[in-house]
Amino acid sequence: MLERIAIYPGSFDPITNGHVGIIQRSLRIFDRVVVGVLRNISKKPLFNVEERSAMIQETFLDEPRVEVDTFEGLLVTYAEQKGAVAIVRGLRAIADFEYELQMSNMNRRLAPEVTTIFLMAEDRHAYISSSLIKEVAALGGDVHGLVPPSVEHRLMAALQTKR
Ligand code: ADP
Repeated sequence: MLERIAIYPGSFDPITNGHVGIIQRSLRIFDRVVVGVLRNISKKPLFNVEERSAMIQETFLDEPRVEVDTFEGLLVTYAEQKGAVAIVRGLRAIADFEYELQMSNMNRRLAPEVTTIFLMAEDRHAYISSSLIKEVAALGGDVHGLVPPSVEHRLMAALQTKR
């Protein structure tokens, strides 16, 4: 039977428990989820693409249906290369909506056979973003329970070497 594959694209700098929730829920809908870590983002990331991928891999060590990969260029081209039927995105608040609507319409025009689906963030994750996590951690705040353990360790190490 044909596998139903979804791409979950993002910067994941770093992965948070919000992202983890979206991946876990996607696994209930799709046979396989490819987490696509974006290579060339304009904003300077705290973690390079290898580190960002490693943290996702460590988080999903026991889940063979999650594949961690990196990509650059057009998302729909990448989705087609991977044989994906869907792109998964998470929505936290109205603020996410406008940009996501625009992107999904553009992606549909570019590749009508790839459907973008949106999962609403769980309320306990709705306020979590990678940038807020980095900001709070840099100021010495506790991010325990908001990110996977492997991220917590690396965040501490990254911020210590930065000081
Ligand atoms: P991007 O740079 O593409 O926004 P992110 O790594 O910030 O990438 O996020 C990837 C996807 O995960 C986006 O669809 C984003 O809306 C979603 N997302 C981010 N944080 C959360 C969260 N706390 N709960 C649910 N979805 C989230």
